[in-house]
Amino acid sequence: MGLPAGGYGRHEGQLTVGGIPVERLAARVGGTPFFVYDRELINRRVAAVRAALPGDVHLSYAVKANPMPALIQHMSGLVDGFDVASALEMRHALDTPTPAHRVGFAGPGKTVEDLSQAVAAGVTIELESELEIARVKRVSADLGIAARVALRVNPDFTMRGSGMRLGGGPQQFGIDSERVPDALASLAGADFDFQGFHVFAGSQNLRADNICEAQRGIAELVLRLADAAPGPVRYLNLGGGFGIPYFHRDRPLDLDRVGANLADLMDELIRPGLPEARIVVELGRYLVGEAGVYLTRVVDRKESRGKVFVVVDGGLHHQLAASGNFGQVIRRNYPIAVANRVDDLPDETVSVVGCLCTPLDLLGDDVALPSPGVGDLIVLFQAGAYGLTASPTAFLSHPPPAEVLI
Ligand SMILES: *Cc1c(COP(=O)(O)O)cnc(C)c1O
Repeated sequence: MGLPAGGYGRHEGQLTVGGIPVERLAARVGGTPFFVYDRELINRRVAAVRAALPGDVHLSYAVKANPMPALIQHMSGLVDGFDVASALEMRHALDTPTPAHRVGFAGPGKTVEDLSQAVAAGVTIELESELEIARVKRVSADLGIAARVALRVNPDFTMRGSGMRLGGGPQQFGIDSERVPDALASLAGADFDFQGFHVFAGSQNLRADNICEAQRGIAELVLRLADAAPGPVRYLNLGGGFGIPYFHRDRPLDLDRVGANLADLMDELIRPGLPEARIVVELGRYLVGEAGVYLTRVVDRKESRGKVFVVVDGGLHHQLAASGNFGQVIRRNYPIAVANRVDDLPDETVSVVGCLCTPLDLLGDDVALPSPGVGDLIVLFQAGAYGLTASPTAFLSHPPPAEVLI
């Protein structure tokens, strides 16, 4: 079974993460199941993005992809800012050396308490609705602090080919672009520190052409909207949407192509039209998704009417996405291997299932593996983003898995 081209090594038949064989890791962690994230793989990925994007484009990490506090700390030394979507994510970001004004707080449904903390801390609030504008106005007045704000815009187009659409058409995210001039007018007169715009059009896109087209559309849209702004645009968040390959036929994103297109856009449109703006690309899964794996041990093997089930001590309560229940339309297998026997050839077709009492707890359906036995370690790749915190850990009341950053 081939390993994903993620930079994982092998040592005497075992998969290694950060150079450490998985059985040694399991012993150090104190048992299975667990997640392990590799700093070096994250470093390399950030370096590759930096090398591809124009030097004056800032890189922000979308914390919800993986909010492990130690990982957020590590990211702080690598990226220029954070995108957070809750008060707790914001606090973890503020616990790092990254300055508050480089933290953007987006997301629908921010409460008065959330907004008060954000205004007091001096983070950039990405305004998601007209009511939110009114709330921030009141909070600012109450605290006597001018809120740093940007408008999140729901564009009048979508990013084609996205695994998840977060812009275009009717959306709970952002303010529809045609209503933005009125929203900008409503900022006037209040004590706002207006920064600019945030446009996030889509997520999990593997086609460079689609990302290039969306970035051009965003730049053109914001140049039109900038005329109505209460001051110069000092911040433009172009979103992200860079995808990673999860499934058999997925091809990695052509990062150089995205970078070259953005360099052209910067020259043609953005620097001339918005000379004072800090330009930001915000990425979650692209930075960390391939840098993490989930390891779980085989506890049972059984045959039922001609089908072999390999039962592991983990499951969808830790790694929901691999079961196909985190937004996938058609269930397909995440990359999977027998981690303590990576040199063995596949000789059996099995279904790897978790330990929960639901048929949804399917981690690998009819996968060819070297006949997994009780005690073997199963690894699921692409587990560094939307893994543990995107899973229903309380379901079936099993203990939580460990998470380690090495
Ligand atoms: C979730 C989210 C991201 C990160 O998406 P990825 O697919 O992980 O890169 C970025 N920006 C916003 C506003 C988000 O909500």
